[in-house]
Amino acid sequence: MDYVFKMVVIGDSAVGKSQLLARFSKNEFNADGRATVGKLVKAQIWDTAGQERYRAVTSAYYRGALGALIVYDITSAASFEQVPRWLEDLRAYADPGMVVLLAGNKCDLGELRAVPTAVGRELAEREGLLFLETSALDATNVEKAFLTVLEQIFYRGAGRRS
Ligand code: GDP
Repeated sequence: MDYVFKMVVIGDSAVGKSQLLARFSKNEFNADGRATVGKLVKAQIWDTAGQERYRAVTSAYYRGALGALIVYDITSAASFEQVPRWLEDLRAYADPGMVVLLAGNKCDLGELRAVPTAVGRELAEREGLLFLETSALDATNVEKAFLTVLEQIFYRGAGRRS
């Protein structure tokens, strides 16, 4: 029995969404582009492919998604300030039971940090999101971020058989 989950990765331009996916996919993806988490759970992970620059991420992008990563860059206060806007999008378009993880990316750039860890975590707690700081560069928490969301979806019993 296989479960297939759709998961989306959102956040402002240049926060590292593509690099996070690339890093995760190196370890996890099969030739058919689906991640295999253990043997039973497959994920289709969607990247905005630059549409966010034009605010052109539409309801179709979110449709059927059971999980999301909202990514900001810990060296960019502006990218963190946009997180509420991404949450608004999710609440407008996405399934209300969606599992959402807030990822403060580029945590390898500690000397340039603009968003304290505690501030990221507070926002996540206030909004009911999971939280991790990640680095696509040195792989910190990348696998954990994706797998945590997929696990939560799995244990909530959502998903469909393929
Ligand atoms: P996207 O527009 O959100 O998909 O961002 P990209 O994945 O294209 O990354 C934007 C830039 O940030 C690129 O130059 C990446 O190499 C860099 N980058 C992404 N993730 C990290 C990270 O974890 N650490 C560092 N130092 N740079 C990163």
